[in-house]
Amino acid sequence: MKQLRIFPKSSSIRNPDSLLRLFVIIALVSTFVITIAAGLVFVEVLQRHVIRNAEEDAIKVSSALLATDRARLTARQADGSVKVAVASADLPEMDRHFRKFLSPFDIVKIKIYSADSTIVYSTEASLIGKVDNHNSRLDHALEGLFDSKLERKEEVKDLASEMKFNVDVVETYIPIWDNGQVIGSFEVYIDVTEYRHDTANTASLALGALAGILVVVFGISYFLVRKGTREIKEIQEVLKKQTMTDALTGTFNKGQIELLACKEFARCVRRNEKGLGDADLGFIMIDIDRFKEVNDNYGHLAGDVLLQQFAARIARSLRNYDSIGRFGGEEFLVMLPGSDLEQTRAVAQKIWSLLREEPYLVDGREIDLTASLGAAAVKEGDADLLHVLKRADQRLYAAKSAGRDRVV
Ligand code: GH3
Ligand code: MG
Ligand code: MG
Repeated sequence: MKQLRIFPKSSSIRNPDSLLRLFVIIALVSTFVITIAAGLVFVEVLQRHVIRNAEEDAIKVSSALLATDRARLTARQADGSVKVAVASADLPEMDRHFRKFLSPFDIVKIKIYSADSTIVYSTEASLIGKVDNHNSRLDHALEGLFDSKLERKEEVKDLASEMKFNVDVVETYIPIWDNGQVIGSFEVYIDVTEYRHDTANTASLALGALAGILVVVFGISYFLVRKGTREIKEIQEVLKKQTMTDALTGTFNKGQIELLACKEFARCVRRNEKGLGDADLGFIMIDIDRFKEVNDNYGHLAGDVLLQQFAARIARSLRNYDSIGRFGGEEFLVMLPGSDLEQTRAVAQKIWSLLREEPYLVDGREIDLTASLGAAAVKEGDADLLHVLKRADQRLYAAKSAGRDRVV
C-alpha cells in the first residue's frame, strides 16, 4: 500500500520552488562573476588605451627633440661612428631648451641614455653620468624596441621640480637610431593620473550599465521561471489529486483510502501502546444491493450516475475528518477516526437510512437503491489493518446473506 510517486524524490520538478531558488542563486552568482570579469576586462582595455596614447605622445616628443637637438645630443667619433653624448658645456643651455619644449606636455621626467646605458641627460640633474646596467627594459630599447609600462608612483618630481604624490606614470623607452644602428634611448615619463579617474568613471559607467542590463534580463527571466514553476505546481496538484481520487465518484480511490487507513491504523496502535485516549478507529464497508440488476434494467450509464449520487450521499453524512473511498465496483469503504464499534455502528445505521430513504433521480426516473453495510472497529489483538478490514467485509457479507438492506 505505497503512495504512487510520480517524480523522483530529489528532482527539482518535484519541488518547483527549489528550481526557482536555484535560478535566483545562479542569477546572483552570474551577475557577480560577469560584473567582476567585465570590470577587469574594462580596466585592462582602458589602461592599454592610456598606455598606447602615452607611448604615441612620448614617441612624438622624443622624435621632435631629436630633430631639433640632434647636433647637441650626438657626437661623431674618431672611427666615423656616431654616439649619444652631451658636452658638459652644452648641458645648461640644452636643459633650458628641453624644459621649455616639454612644458606643454604632461611629461614629468625625461632621461637620455647612450648605448652603454649611461645617462647623458636627465631633467633630474643628479642622475646625469650614472650607468643603468641592470635595466631589462632599457636593454629592449637598445635592441631597437619600444617599451611602455604604466606605473604607480608614490612620488615623482615634475619638470618644474615640484613633488607630485600618488601619480600614474607611463614610462616609455624610445630607441635613438643612427644609420640603422641603435645609439641610445630616451626614457620619457608621462603623467597619466587624470586618466585614472577617467578610467574609473568609464569603467563604473560601463559596469553600471552592464549590471542594469543583467538585472533586467534576470528579472524578466525570474518572472518567467516563477510563472513556469507555478504552472508546474498547479499541474502537480492536479496530477496528485488524480492519483488519489476515483474519477467517477470523486471519492478517494482504493490505493489512497488504503494508505490513509494504514496511517490512521498506525496512529491508533501508537496511541493505544502509550495508553493515550482517542485510539479508536472504525470502518464501514458498503455495497449496493443487486446493482447488476440496476445496470441491466437502466443501462450502465444510468448505473454510473447512480454510483455518483450514492457516493455523494455517503460523503454528505460524514464529518470532515472521516474519509470515504471507492473500494471496488459498487463497494465503498468509510473510515471513522475516533469512533469505537458502537459509534461506528450508529454511523453505519445513519448512512444506511440516508442511502435508502429517498429514491435516486436518473434521467427523470426515480430509482430505489438499498445497500448492505458491515461495520467493524479496531480492537486489541488486531495485528494489522487487514484484520479489521476483513471483519468489516465478513459482516458486509453476513448482511448480504441475511437478506441485504441492513447493517451488521
Ligand atoms: P449484491 O447485492 O450481491 O452485491 O449484487 P450485485 O449485483 O451488486 O453484486 P456484484 O458484485 O456481483 O455486481 C456488482 C456490479 O456492479 C457488477 C457491475 O456491473 C457493476 N459495476 C461495477 N462497477 C461499475 C461501474 O463503474 N459502473 C456501473 N454502471 N456499474 C458497475
Ligand atoms: Mg453489490
Ligand atoms: Mg460488489
